[in-house]
Amino acid sequence: KTKRIAIYGKGGIGKSTIVSNIAAAYSENCNVLVIGCDPKADTTRTLVGSRIPTILEIVKRKKGASPDEILFKGYGGVRCVESGGPEPGVGCAGRGVIVAMNLLEKLEIFSEDLDVIIYDVLGDVVCGGFAVPLREEFADEVYIVTSGEYMALYAANNICKGIKKLKSRFGGVICNRRGLKDEVKIVGEFAERVGSKIIGVIPKSELVQKSEYEAKTVVEKFPDSKQTELYRKLAKAIYLNEDFVVPEPMGIDEFEEFFRQF
Ligand code: ATP
Ligand code: MG
Repeated sequence: KTKRIAIYGKGGIGKSTIVSNIAAAYSENCNVLVIGCDPKADTTRTLVGSRIPTILEIVKRKKGASPDEILFKGYGGVRCVESGGPEPGVGCAGRGVIVAMNLLEKLEIFSEDLDVIIYDVLGDVVCGGFAVPLREEFADEVYIVTSGEYMALYAANNICKGIKKLKSRFGGVICNRRGLKDEVKIVGEFAERVGSKIIGVIPKSELVQKSEYEAKTVVEKFPDSKQTELYRKLAKAIYLNEDFVVPEPMGIDEFEEFFRQF
């Protein structure tokens, strides 16, 4: 059975970096498809080495797109697509994602022998794009990326509200470190409060930027680094995870009380 994962988290927290690096790690053992669901369409850049055209762009230009116009091969054979979205300020990102998903289904891109599908999702719960992969049942498991910072955790808690509403399966919190003191403890406490656990910890590392400059993942550019080892470890932990909950988000006051402890 294909493992279908969605990665959520506050804007700029490091979702796309994690998605592309764990995809690169998975490619060492299995077939992976990465679906960027963000109008920025930057998830797959470090896998392919450049930006790829988005499904919405292609569909707008012509009718009847073929699989090889929207599906690109990246590092290690990772299959990559970007949904794309409306121009900034116009239209709903969620609709774009639905159009993209329907096309992928029609072109039977999901029915190939895929071991893992990873969705890099728009982080903001207020946006319609948020719910699509879960609501439309394209993804089965959700992970949230956060640091120990207030706004990242606040967003993570809000995302838990969304996941609860959709009654989705929450697999855990990925701690993408900013380098705060006691950060893993803070994130661990957060995970516990919402009824879950930390599934992996990724340190802040300059190797991320160094690879990004060359449009590569850390896994490709620095395969023997500690950072790559940790992306591989995270990929494996997610792959083997069988422990899912419907999260129990904190109320506003409880969240404040939780955060003030630190
Ligand atoms: P958005 O919500 O805008 O799509 P995102 O959550 O996908 O953002 P990324 O684009 O992955 O976030 O990362 C934002 C920036 O943080 C990038 O410039 C990336 O290089 C940097 N970054 C991410 N993770 C790390 C890390 N572990 N160490 C150092 N820099 C990192
Ligand atoms: Mg992103």
